[in-house]
Amino acid sequence: MPVKTVTVFCGSRSGENPQWVSVASACGRSLAAHGLALVYGGGCNGLMGAVARAAMESKGQATGVIPESLLAIEPAMQGLTELLVVDSMHTRKSIMAERADAFLVLPGGIGTYEEFFEMWTWNQIGLHDKPIVLLNAFDFYTPLLQFLRQSVDHGFLNPKHHDHLKVATTVDQAIDFLLHA
Ligand code: AMP
Repeated sequence: MPVKTVTVFCGSRSGENPQWVSVASACGRSLAAHGLALVYGGGCNGLMGAVARAAMESKGQATGVIPESLLAIEPAMQGLTELLVVDSMHTRKSIMAERADAFLVLPGGIGTYEEFFEMWTWNQIGLHDKPIVLLNAFDFYTPLLQFLRQSVDHGFLNPKHHDHLKVATTVDQAIDFLLHA
């Protein structure tokens, strides 16, 4: 089944170096240019805001899903194609998971890691078989990838599940993985 909707997990902060916002904006533009609809956490700050803003500016589709309780901490983006204000973090995550044809993970903090690992573990236990692409821009995730390789070597992570994760080093490669998943 072709990928049409991509759920993106990424930082609610921008990071120190402007390169992170550039990468997120490039992702938003490229998703829109390839006709891929974006689903994300709905915030206007950080990389989350950058990816959605770029997608909207490029005439793409962007759906935000945010729990009401988070609105005060993570203000919602105005002008999205669709903004779903939901009752809990669990509802947010299940909508983001259900709507996705594939997941794309950009640099971020512990919220990003939690969402990424949850979707990967759901794959491991057979709850979905949706592609998961990690964008290792500027080697951000290289230490984590080394640790995951070590987890395979120690026999804690099945190579088959390890290999479900596709690692891209550029935005173009990430979009290519999504289009040919
Ligand atoms: P961060 O990567 O920490 O900047 O967070 C990115 C996004 O993940 C934000 O929209 C957070 O609200 C969200 N987030 C934070 N903690 C969790 C969690 N436990 N489960 C799901 N999403 C979370």
